[in-house]
Amino acid sequence: MLISNNTLHPWLEKHWQQVLSLKEQARLPHALMLRGADGLGIEQLASVIGTSLLCKEPTIEGFSCGHCSDCLLVAAGTHPDYHLITVAEDKKLISVDQIRALVKVCMERPHQGGYRIVIIEPCSSMNISAANALLKTLEEPGDNTLLILVSSTTNSLPATIRSRCQLMSINVPTETEGMNWLIKRHLDDKLTILLALRLSKHAPLEALTLLTSEQLHVRQSFITGMARAAEGHLDPIKLVAKLKKDDFASSIEWMYSLALDAQKLSHKVAKEKLINNDHFSLIQKLASKMSNRFDVWVEHLLEARRLMATTSNINPQLITENLMFRWIAIFK
Ligand SMILES: [Zn+2]
Repeated sequence: MLISNNTLHPWLEKHWQQVLSLKEQARLPHALMLRGADGLGIEQLASVIGTSLLCKEPTIEGFSCGHCSDCLLVAAGTHPDYHLITVAEDKKLISVDQIRALVKVCMERPHQGGYRIVIIEPCSSMNISAANALLKTLEEPGDNTLLILVSSTTNSLPATIRSRCQLMSINVPTETEGMNWLIKRHLDDKLTILLALRLSKHAPLEALTLLTSEQLHVRQSFITGMARAAEGHLDPIKLVAKLKKDDFASSIEWMYSLALDAQKLSHKVAKEKLINNDHFSLIQKLASKMSNRFDVWVEHLLEARRLMATTSNINPQLITENLMFRWIAIFK
């Protein structure tokens, strides 16, 4: 795995430079938490940092060389001092057994005589027992060990974990930076790219996934359906029935983005600043219907988003249908 400047996303570069400078000053912490929104490729930064510290002959820019014995072992997934702890394929969480095994490893000296790298990704996937099992190691991970915890801002973490790590917050790039990066990778017109970027809350990798999947088409037909349902021309149950299981969470986000746009428009925000640049007339119509019913819809949207993010024991189809009925009520 040759990791060069070309593969480090531009919005991660300044954080990479920060780590390099800490390394040069011999001030690298024991535990580093890289925290930011999903869709920024933060796991890539973790891997670049980890491999560069193991490499025998890093490049002038500090990246791993890709061909020394350590780099080859990392690429083969067999480096004895490189530990990637992540959710097993058939599991939902990082287990306490995974962490206990890691704690045991950290009690020994690094095998190759250099650094030991532990990447935990995403660290919010540790259950409480796993997080507790890690605490002591986070404080004293042993010589030459760096724990890198990759954390998404959408999940909360126990304060006990957070307080034991040096935090590096990674922000989404500016809209112009994000647009430039996407334009180089995608053939769509600029308006569609902008739409995808804004729907992804400016996380470029998430926007790229949107642009290269069927999701934008699903959204288009869902919002067109919402507009027809608002006019009484479409049964909301039928509209929701067309959604696939994985689309419910997205459709709730799409509804929420329409609500945000309508609120912005009613506060005289310029048309160009709206997220849904392809549904202006619907947003205009919604903005003209600001009432108690609109507020109730937004309250239910917020609750639905919270439930979708935190609870597995819910019926997303029922939640989406309920939101659609409240949506129709706004226009009655
Ligand atoms: Zn190397």
